[in-house]
Amino acid sequence: MQWFHWYIPADGEHWNRLRSEAPALAKAGITGLWLPPANKGIGGANDVGYGTYDLYDLGEFDQKGTVRTKYGTKNEYLAAVKECRDLGLQVYADTVFNHKMAADFEEDFEAVPFDPSNRYNALGDARTIRSWTGFNFPGRNKLHSSMDWHWWHFDSVDYNSLDPGFKAIWRMRDKQFEGNVDLESGNYDYLMGCDLDINHPEVRGELKRWGEWMLDHVGVDGFRLDAIKHINSDFFTDWIQSMEDHAQRDLFIVGEYWTYNIKTLSWYAGHTAGRMCMFDAPLHNNFHRASRASGNFDMRTILDGTLMKEMPLLAVTLVDNHDTQPLQALESVVESWFKPLAYAIILLRREGYPCIFHPDYYGAHYKDRGRDGNEYEIWLDSHRAILDKLLFARNHFAYGDQYDYFDHYNTIGWTRLGSQDHPHALAVLMSDGSAGNKWMEVGKKNTTFRDLTGHISDPITTNADGWAEWRCNGGSVSVWAEEAAITNQ
Ligand code: CA
Repeated sequence: MQWFHWYIPADGEHWNRLRSEAPALAKAGITGLWLPPANKGIGGANDVGYGTYDLYDLGEFDQKGTVRTKYGTKNEYLAAVKECRDLGLQVYADTVFNHKMAADFEEDFEAVPFDPSNRYNALGDARTIRSWTGFNFPGRNKLHSSMDWHWWHFDSVDYNSLDPGFKAIWRMRDKQFEGNVDLESGNYDYLMGCDLDINHPEVRGELKRWGEWMLDHVGVDGFRLDAIKHINSDFFTDWIQSMEDHAQRDLFIVGEYWTYNIKTLSWYAGHTAGRMCMFDAPLHNNFHRASRASGNFDMRTILDGTLMKEMPLLAVTLVDNHDTQPLQALESVVESWFKPLAYAIILLRREGYPCIFHPDYYGAHYKDRGRDGNEYEIWLDSHRAILDKLLFARNHFAYGDQYDYFDHYNTIGWTRLGSQDHPHALAVLMSDGSAGNKWMEVGKKNTTFRDLTGHISDPITTNADGWAEWRCNGGSVSVWAEEAAITNQ
């Protein structure tokens, strides 16, 4: 589960809430948690965590106007992580390596201005500029790390105090934008703030030391790597190897390369030798489009062009996240009615490592300004009741061979035949249009099944060949499990 979203309250209680909620999560069948960036950001006590200021300040030092972060103090973070791990929940740290913000002092250096919309287009010659690139973290006073950061640890900034009206990306003289990044705007190395020169040996050394410190000091089981399309991919193969060498165990690593283009993800997987998983953004996009199609989406194509289908071993599947939620940067909502269908796909199929989004479990209510400048009030429904049932189905019945029946414009389904350790079968049927029915094989003869979701109350009994005509309601999903096995769990 992604255990946060953009608008959780900035009351400093998030880590404490996690600690008290962890037993219920473990009981519900959650096995891992992606936690937000725990470090201090430019927004101090309100920063979601992506405006990195000091990676070594996890809510421990008086910096940016606060000791705690949006989520709490370092001690509360460590206590929450320990509680989760004691309960068998893995913990993955959100890791922002692309940029730093809110420097402690300005520096003068030479830089060349480039057009933000075309990074090959220089807007003039090199000149002396002044920018906020000096970091000495006075509140931390060299604890945990003695490194200060200067302009030469970055390759570009977007601000010149000597000529603030000149809008440009200022690239340090004699530096290049990194290779092996996304090609939007010509070269998408630069995103925001002070862009780390990931090829600088001191930068690489510091990011390795920080990762090792997170493994030793916090005890995380893996990392969620932010904004990797803006960072040279070569860095990550090296960094991941260092982390696994240090940890002496397998770590879970997932990278956020947000694109709906499977070819781009395939290129990236090749460049990183399959060392990191990736979020299945194309699958999210299919869910989004299907949810907006009022039943006119061709459900046979719901997995087309996705990691789940093309590179299942690397796929981290999700329905929504903190960037796609309403009023956020990449807003592309999966409508509420479709969420049970989408979650059945990520939770009950063999392929992919599924991730539940916090508001889909708990609901959410918030206000913010939209792109049009107007304020909106957002209510997100809790789907906890159905998610708990799908988790129950996943943990007890979603095992073994998978037979697919993606053969109808509205109604698709699949069955799981069970394994040696989990011998019971499962049949899943869904429709984005009117009510559906479909003959599917589960390999269990003359066996009575019940719909775990409760959407259909009548049981279905398989025939002497282990087949049945399964049913679901319109715009709905039904999850059929063996009646005798349900009551035994
Ligand atoms: Ca970058």
